Amino acid sequence: MYISTRGGIEPVGFRDAVLMGLADDGGLLLPAALPTVTDGLSGWRKLAYPQLAAAVMQPFVGTELPPSQLLALTQRSYAGFDDPDVVPVRAVGPIQVMELFHGPTLAFKDIALQFLGNLFARLLADSGRALNILGATSGDTGSAAIAGVRGKGNIHIFVMYPHGRVSPLQERQMTTVADPNVHCLAIEGTFDDGQRVLKQIFTDIGFKSEFCLGAVNSVNWARVLAQIVYYFHAAFRVAEQTGVASVQVCVPTGNFGDIFAGYLARAMGAPISRLILATNENDILARFFNTGVYARGRVTPTTSPSMDIQVASNFERYLYYRTGADPEAVRSLMAGFERHGRLQIEGMDTAFVAGTGTTAASMATIRRYYEDFGYLLDPHTAVGVTVAERYLSKSEPTVCLATAHAAKFPQTIAQALGRDVARHPALERLLELPTRRTVLPAEKAAIQEYIARALGS
Ligand SMILES: *Cc1c(COP(=O)(O)O)cnc(C)c1O
Repeated sequence: MYISTRGGIEPVGFRDAVLMGLADDGGLLLPAALPTVTDGLSGWRKLAYPQLAAAVMQPFVGTELPPSQLLALTQRSYAGFDDPDVVPVRAVGPIQVMELFHGPTLAFKDIALQFLGNLFARLLADSGRALNILGATSGDTGSAAIAGVRGKGNIHIFVMYPHGRVSPLQERQMTTVADPNVHCLAIEGTFDDGQRVLKQIFTDIGFKSEFCLGAVNSVNWARVLAQIVYYFHAAFRVAEQTGVASVQVCVPTGNFGDIFAGYLARAMGAPISRLILATNENDILARFFNTGVYARGRVTPTTSPSMDIQVASNFERYLYYRTGADPEAVRSLMAGFERHGRLQIEGMDTAFVAGTGTTAASMATIRRYYEDFGYLLDPHTAVGVTVAERYLSKSEPTVCLATAHAAKFPQTIAQALGRDVARHPALERLLELPTRRTVLPAEKAAIQEYIARALGS
C-alpha cells in the first residue's frame, strides 16, 4: 500500500499510486513499508537487467500485476536499448562509469519513462480507460516522455515547448516522432509561460476530467521505482569486475529523483556504502547535506541545464524518512519552506556526502577524461565525476552515473575540447526525417481548443 508524505490520504494500491502522480493532499506517495531484500541478493546477482528489474519491483507492485506481466513490461521497456547489458558499467580512469544513456533519447530519463509508458498502457488496457498526458518541457524530459508513450493505445501526449528556445537537436528529438498520438506544441513564449499555462489547465478541474488529463512529472512513483533497479545492477556488476563487495555511488542531481532512488536501494539492502551527491552551481541540495539548511536560491543557467533546479521536487520524500516517517513534521517543514523559502534539520545523514562541480571545473574534467582516457563525458556526468574524484576511496570502487550521451550537447563539448567530436548515429538520423509541430500562442484557451480538436470532440 502507498501513503502520502503528508499523511492526508487513505492508503492506496500500486495502480492508484501510479495514476495519481501527486497525492490528493499535496504530498508525495511512498510505500507504507520498504521491502528489505538482503536474503534475495545472491539470487539477483546474475540476473539480466529486465529480470533484475522485475525482481526488484515486484514487492512494490504486490498482487496488482502478476510476476509474468511485470516481467513482460520490463522486457518490452528495455528491449530497444542499444547495449546488451542495458546500463553497462565501464572502468574509466579511477571511476566506474555506469552508462544510463542507451535508450531511445540517449538520456537516463528513458529508463523510467520507457517503463512508465508500458505500465500506463497496461493499466489503462485493464481498466478500459484513456489518458491524455499534458506536459511542458524546456528540453530533455519532453522527448523521453514522448518516446515512452509513442504509438500506445488509449494514450495521447501533448508537449508544450518554448518556440525557438530549445536546441534544434532537442526539438528534432520531439518533432520527428510520426505517431499520431504525439502532439508537439511550440508555444510563443518562454518555458515559464508553458509552466503557467500547464498549471492553469490542470486547475481547470472540469476540463481536466472531461479530457482525462494526466502528467508524467518527476514525482510519479513509478519513475522513482524504475530507477532503484540500476543501483543494484551497479553494485553487482562492479563486484563481479573488481571482487569488492560494496561500492559508493556518485549521482549528478537536479530534482533529487535519481539519487533518491539510490537512497531507497541502499535502505533495501543494496551493497552501497554511501551516496555522493553532485550539483552544479545550483547547489541547494549540496548545501543542505553539508549544513542541514535547505534554502531556496536563484536559478543560474549552466552547461548542465537538466540540473539547473533550485527546488528539488522529490526532496519531500527524503524528508519523510529523515523525520522518522512523521507526516506531521513533514507538513510543518514544508509549510515553513513555502513561507520562508528555508527549512532546517538537525544532525547529519551519513548515507550522503555532497559537493558542487562548477561549470569551469566540469569543462576541465571533460577535457582531461577525453585526453587521458579517450572517454567523452556529457556535461551532467562531468559534474558527477568532478565531485566523485574528491571522494575516491582506497577500499572501495566509486561508481558515477552517466546521465546523458555527450552527443546531446555538441556545443558544450566543442567548447571544452576545442573540436567537434561528439556524435551519435541516432541523432544524425534525425536530420533526415520530416518534422511535425503546431505553433500556438501561450494561452490556456488556445491549448485547450487544440487538445479538444485533436481528441475529436
Ligand atoms: C534529469 C537529468 C538529471 C537530473 O536528474 P534528477 O532526477 O532530476 O536528479 C541529470 N542529468 C540529465 C542528463 C538529466 O536529463
